[in-house]
Amino acid sequence: MARTIIVANQKGGVGKTTTTVNLAASLAVMEKKVLIVDCDPQANASSGLGIDVGEQEDNLYTAMFDETRVRDAVCETELPYLHVLPSTHDLVGADLELVDRREREFYVANLVESIGEKYEYIFLDCPPSLGLVTINALCAGRELLIPLQCEYYALEGIAQLLQTYEAVKKRLNRRLEIMGVVLTMFDKRNRLSFQVEREVRTYFPEKTFATKIPRNVRLSEAPSHGKPAITYDIRSTGTQAYISLAREVLERG
Ligand code: ADP
Ligand code: MG
Repeated sequence: MARTIIVANQKGGVGKTTTTVNLAASLAVMEKKVLIVDCDPQANASSGLGIDVGEQEDNLYTAMFDETRVRDAVCETELPYLHVLPSTHDLVGADLELVDRREREFYVANLVESIGEKYEYIFLDCPPSLGLVTINALCAGRELLIPLQCEYYALEGIAQLLQTYEAVKKRLNRRLEIMGVVLTMFDKRNRLSFQVEREVRTYFPEKTFATKIPRNVRLSEAPSHGKPAITYDIRSTGTQAYISLAREVLERG
């Protein structure tokens, strides 16, 4: 059985996609078979791994409504152990299309189940909302990973995310657990980063990972080359941090 990890925070720009891609790539380099399911209509995880999103006839959206298309939808990447089920802009409409359907929360879960046995790790990269697609992701996995950006108001909105988590766990997916909280874009020259770190570690004493992801320009450059940071610049502090986070994730398994 694959470990299924949902990367969620309804705030945009906090490092969900960067964490998904680079954590997944680190595990893939450790020869774990990994799949990323890109659940964001912005498709940043897909394009950041070199997939031409516009050219992709089959994708998460088409596969959600026609499961026979899921195998064709999965793409390879330059890392042999890393595959992606890409997103598309059409996924914007999925929330509305699902709303009247029966079992509307389980479309992604059904898909993940149908391909799950091929992988050891499946990551679900969520959009910046708590809409039906995110609920689908929360029903499709077991372990919730929350990236928090080291800036003012890092914990703002967390109550809402935790409420959603509790509601999903109670009503839809009993096996859901919080796997961990990861501090992203940490800037050691900025006192605010340390202040946020203290706050977050107080709020989530057990769950916060020891590894902090530094603010590192290589992490933001890599996607424009269609690569994870580990193949773009293995020595960068960002790459090294995600390798260390991957080790912690392995330990929490
Ligand atoms: P989200 O998926 O939560 O919207 P992203 O992972 O796309 O957030 O990150 C938002 C922006 O910040 C992107 O441009 C990304 O390249 C950049 N970024 C993310 N993490 C870092 C980091 N540790 N250092 C520098 N830039 C980062
Ligand atoms: Mg994203």
